[in-house]
Amino acid sequence: MSRSHPPETHADWQALAASLRFEKGLETRAFVDDAFVAAVGGETFTTINPATGETLAEVASCDVADADLAVGHARSAFETGEWSRLAPGKRKKVLLRLADLMEANRHELALLDTLDMGKTVSSSLGDMAGAIACFRYQAECIDKLYGEVAPTGEEALALVLREPMGVVASIVPWNFPLMMTAWKVAPALAAGNSVILKPSEKSPLSALRLAQLAREAGLPRGVFQVLPGFGHTVGKALALSMGVDCLAFTGSTATGKQLMQYAGQSNLKRLYLECGGKSPNIVFADCKDLNRVAKHAAAAIFHNQGEVCIAGSRLLVENPIREAFIDKVVEAAKSMQPGDPLDPASFMGAIVDETQYRRILGYIEKGREEGARLRAGGEAIEGPGLFIPPTVFDGVTPEMAIGREEIFGPVLSVFGFDDEAEAVVLANDSVYGLAAGLWSQDIDRIMRMTRRLHSGQVFVNNWAGGDQTMPFGGVKQSGNGRDKSHHSLEEYSELKAVWMSLAT
Ligand code: NAD
Repeated sequence: MSRSHPPETHADWQALAASLRFEKGLETRAFVDDAFVAAVGGETFTTINPATGETLAEVASCDVADADLAVGHARSAFETGEWSRLAPGKRKKVLLRLADLMEANRHELALLDTLDMGKTVSSSLGDMAGAIACFRYQAECIDKLYGEVAPTGEEALALVLREPMGVVASIVPWNFPLMMTAWKVAPALAAGNSVILKPSEKSPLSALRLAQLAREAGLPRGVFQVLPGFGHTVGKALALSMGVDCLAFTGSTATGKQLMQYAGQSNLKRLYLECGGKSPNIVFADCKDLNRVAKHAAAAIFHNQGEVCIAGSRLLVENPIREAFIDKVVEAAKSMQPGDPLDPASFMGAIVDETQYRRILGYIEKGREEGARLRAGGEAIEGPGLFIPPTVFDGVTPEMAIGREEIFGPVLSVFGFDDEAEAVVLANDSVYGLAAGLWSQDIDRIMRMTRRLHSGQVFVNNWAGGDQTMPFGGVKQSGNGRDKSHHSLEEYSELKAVWMSLAT
């Protein structure tokens, strides 16, 4: 890859993309033990750039045998203690080195995610900043996390120790490939575990580049391994493995339910699930600047093509301002049209693949059939790539599929409400509980509603605010895990209770 200056313009990114070479340098094989290898069965799968339809690379397609091998190596690495028993301060140094390497290679990593799954380079660069910050935060946390001394009498000394769990498998989705990876892998490694990562079959490339950088940073062999492949093959094998102690998952609720069954059928492995959402974004008439709120409401659903777990996909607007507010959202969406993901000026990129593209268009069709009023978008954009414009439906009711189900695309469903009580009922009428937004100047109402919303996070007068210090996760069928912050670090360790009798 040529590196005369960091890419800034559309032409720079196009040139960088043209210089990518998968046969020379960039890996497409699995990373097992300490080597890049073909899948045991020799299988591969094709990864395609959804913005152009072009084939990017043939990638190793792992299966049960690869999972078994990796689990064995992970266990051996854990037992040697080279990483698991290393002083936390020393683990920190290696992970900070990895973060530095990620930073030095952030343009290339961002480009891999953009080419692999269609998101814009601007969005991918934001993901890289998030992923690097996550590695740094978790690395910095690990030598500041104390155990406990229980309040006993003088006949005993009772310690609560925090220990790594063993082998952690992490299965991640394609919508923020490297950032979702970092949210799992950074705390699990910091806590001293051996980690096996299975990236999505729709976006495997940045994970393999991360493996190269992890080796360069000095992670011992077997401590971090990457198995590309499909969910029903290698993903299932990891979930059913008797040698995996913990499975950390981000993906759909349907897959999350399947993984719970696999954990039950195998070894009761610890399971953390970060699943889907249908998040309500609630706008009251008392907002000071409705133009600003409308821009945020549009970005809350159209960012990353709507392929966001916490997309503000249900917009709940107080009825007196509903018509005027929708006009403002539609106006704001005009500047959020999809374009070439390599153009830094594009707000949206391409939809990840043909299956997801058909699924989104199917929901748009269903919305029309169910009687919702189309206010913007609604037709796919012609082209070799997979592009869908911002689409807005008004008059949505909770019975409609577009009002209940996660579409995972640029489709906004608008509901009206008359008062606070109705807004709460509508907002909570969902199997999901990932995020909720509240826009109002009334602090009493904000506090009342914040407590009543069934949601892992509430954004007040913003959408998706937060940094590494805040836990991220859902309630109900949005899952049970918490990524980021010291809470995620704690999830990847076991508590050991030590009661020492003392002679008196
Ligand atoms: P998905 O469930 O189809 O796949 C996620 C991962 O699970 C992939 O790596 C896939 O290969 C694997 N997988 C699929 N079936 C499997 C099986 N039977 N056994 C083991 N592994 C299996 O989800 P997706 O389409 O990749 O991602 C979109 C979903 O992810 C959306 O529902 C979105 O809301 C959710 N998501 C949630 C969060 C969060 O933090 N809560 C973040 C990002 C995405």
